[in-house]
Amino acid sequence: MLDICLLGTGGMLPLPERYLTALLARYNGRKLLIDCGEGTQVTMRMLGWGYKTVDIICFTHYHGDHVTGLPGLLLTIANAGRKEPLTIMGPPGLKKIVEGLTVICRDLAFELILIELSYEKQTLQIGEFWISVLPVPHNVKCFAYTLENKRTPKFIVEKAKQNEVPQKYWKRLQKGETVSEEQKVYTPDMVLGHARKGLKVAYCTDCRPIKELEAFIQEADLFICEGMYMEEEYLDQVKKHKHMLGSEAARLARASGVQALWLTHFSPALLSNHIQMEGIKEIFENSVAGYDRITTTLDFGQEEL
Ligand SMILES: [Zn+2]
Ligand SMILES: [Zn+2]
Repeated sequence: MLDICLLGTGGMLPLPERYLTALLARYNGRKLLIDCGEGTQVTMRMLGWGYKTVDIICFTHYHGDHVTGLPGLLLTIANAGRKEPLTIMGPPGLKKIVEGLTVICRDLAFELILIELSYEKQTLQIGEFWISVLPVPHNVKCFAYTLENKRTPKFIVEKAKQNEVPQKYWKRLQKGETVSEEQKVYTPDMVLGHARKGLKVAYCTDCRPIKELEAFIQEADLFICEGMYMEEEYLDQVKKHKHMLGSEAARLARASGVQALWLTHFSPALLSNHIQMEGIKEIFENSVAGYDRITTTLDFGQEEL
């Protein structure tokens, strides 16, 4: 099961009742955070999932509302007793940004592993998370992210026996290895069932909608996307500053077959009780105006074998 929490839903500056946009994912007790603006550690505290097991911090881009919470959070993670290395990743420029932000938190009790990604679409596996990034148009280099938790196919004893696979190789084949013995080659499909559905969450903020995003977020269980403004009259403004309207996010959701859409990164001028969802839901029905610490648990469902 994958727990997802949208820690904040603001853009630009944190408000007393609205922290900055960031996502926290929890899978088997390990955690991954995307973005860390001012106050992210406060809303994490309110959530109560703890700090010590944050293994990965991902940045979409290096605007203040997405990064300036880093030093405080690292100090708090250290105070929580973390000793294991922590991975930080993001678009080009990461090393310089982290170096600058951590001037005030040297001597952490854990190592920081920095992964400065090239500015291209790519996928990495860290622990049980498959993390994919796609460059998206903002006024600085910016990534959209997807997180996936995959499941290996089931091991089927009858199939292994039918294919006369020696039992000593079962474990290795189950792990995806191919084994050769004399003239024979044993492949994982000789012992495994068909591919099983994994879980996928997409997170996209501070950018214009582009065609490539549709394929990138395809069939996500949850799509978290910015909707800086709801009113169409702001279209010129969001185009100029390379952001998105709620309706543009909803069109992306509809075109890509995602299950649900949470809007976020609202303008400080857009008060929570003024977020009009009627027009958005006409485009994509399962749309929700995100609010701080909105949480869901995604599971693999009943589909088996
Ligand atoms: Zn922003
Ligand atoms: Zn930005």
